[in-house]
Amino acid sequence: MAKTVFHKILAKEIPADIVYEDENVLAFNDINPKAPTHILFIAKKESDFVASIAELTDQTEHVPTMLIRTARMFAQEKGIDGYQLKFHVGKDGGQEVPYVHLHFLSQQTLNT
Ligand code: 5GP
Repeated sequence: MAKTVFHKILAKEIPADIVYEDENVLAFNDINPKAPTHILFIAKKESDFVASIAELTDQTEHVPTMLIRTARMFAQEKGIDGYQLKFHVGKDGGQEVPYVHLHFLSQQTLNT
């Protein structure tokens, strides 16, 4: 499988504006933000990689929950109380990057 742009961000082969990282999850600002705060949350571990929500398996079905939980905790920590969480699924669902990612959008500005 070809490496996606998110694999390259994870491998630090291309730069990203990282706003959060732990053992399992990386979060960085979207390069083309659709809201004052637009962050993408992705799973870090190779074993958690899945191209699309439509391709989740027994081994990876925990991934969306993990990303949502991390985004919720991130928002609480940053004092963001209103936001949208979105997964685009498939080309017709607006998904461009075949690496499951959670969009976190808020009209509130992130105070770093
Ligand atoms: P999708 O449409 O696949 O759900 O979302 C992919 C998102 O990744 C888009 O919002 C797009 O702006 C963002 N994106 C694409 N390439 C890059 C990149 O190189 N760096 C960052 N930070 N975001 C990217």
